[in-house]
Amino acid sequence: MTDPLFAPIELTPPDIAPYRRGNTGIDHVTSLTSGEAGPHVVLNALVHGNEISGAIALDSLFRMGVRPRRGRLSLVFANTAAYRNFDRQNPYASRFVDEDFNRLWSPELLDGRRDSVELRRARQLRPVYESADLLLDLHSMTADTAPLTLCGPTGRGRDLALGLRYPAWVVADGGHAGGRRLIDYGAFAAAEGARTAILVECGQHWRAETAVVALESCLRLLLGLEMIDAELVDERAGPRLKTRADPQRVVEVTEAVTAATEHFRFTAPFVGLEVIGRAGTVIGWDGERPLRTPYDDCVLIMPARRVKAGQTAVRLGRLVG
Ligand SMILES: [Zn+2]
Repeated sequence: MTDPLFAPIELTPPDIAPYRRGNTGIDHVTSLTSGEAGPHVVLNALVHGNEISGAIALDSLFRMGVRPRRGRLSLVFANTAAYRNFDRQNPYASRFVDEDFNRLWSPELLDGRRDSVELRRARQLRPVYESADLLLDLHSMTADTAPLTLCGPTGRGRDLALGLRYPAWVVADGGHAGGRRLIDYGAFAAAEGARTAILVECGQHWRAETAVVALESCLRLLLGLEMIDAELVDERAGPRLKTRADPQRVVEVTEAVTAATEHFRFTAPFVGLEVIGRAGTVIGWDGERPLRTPYDDCVLIMPARRVKAGQTAVRLGRLVG
């Protein structure tokens, strides 16, 4: 098996310069209004500058001439400063400039005095996200894992992910200890309320298929909300949307495993979404200490390729549906 770290880059990063001016006064944010009542949907790409499939999906939507029939649709290229640094020879380096844009989403940080390229951009984009009824955040993964939706901790996030009937895996989790994700920001993760955010990990960063998944996720959401015409979809993704009915599986993340030593390794080249049947199976070693699965049918979520002490090695989840 090829190590995905060195997988060929099948995707071409699109030129997003034509979308810089947008129409909102914020660079790389375009809001399309219908004049009819309806939700404000935000399709968000490039939270991580090297995850180019989301940018390809938004570029495709622009080229298709997408217009909402109801409500408002905003297309956002988030960490454009990092994206500008994308280099095919060193494609992982452009994930961010100063810090991870997806760990900044608490009022304390956003209102605080700390400064970075990503915090500046987050403060610019904050009103866009705060006005969203629905946010679809497009990401991709280092490992060659099947596409999955991270629906956050709320029931409405889970309902939205299941309502799209795609991708097949839905992972309910509470985020990262290292800082709040955008999908966990403010009203999105509140126990009560209607505002909803989900994150789709569309596949391996560089695979051609990953951009197809990103576009399909956007189209399914807009179609489900009756914000676009079926004809628009038919031209691009129609056959897939109509024939596809993968049964979905829901996983609840129960714990994150943090490496305690510099010598963490897995017992097999896991890529994620493996279901380990028997409780107590050793799946890795942290120095001398074995890492055992805590329950039957334990699902491995996004095992890290290389782990340093203090970093998340893998998250473990229980199949609940
Ligand atoms: Zn990402």
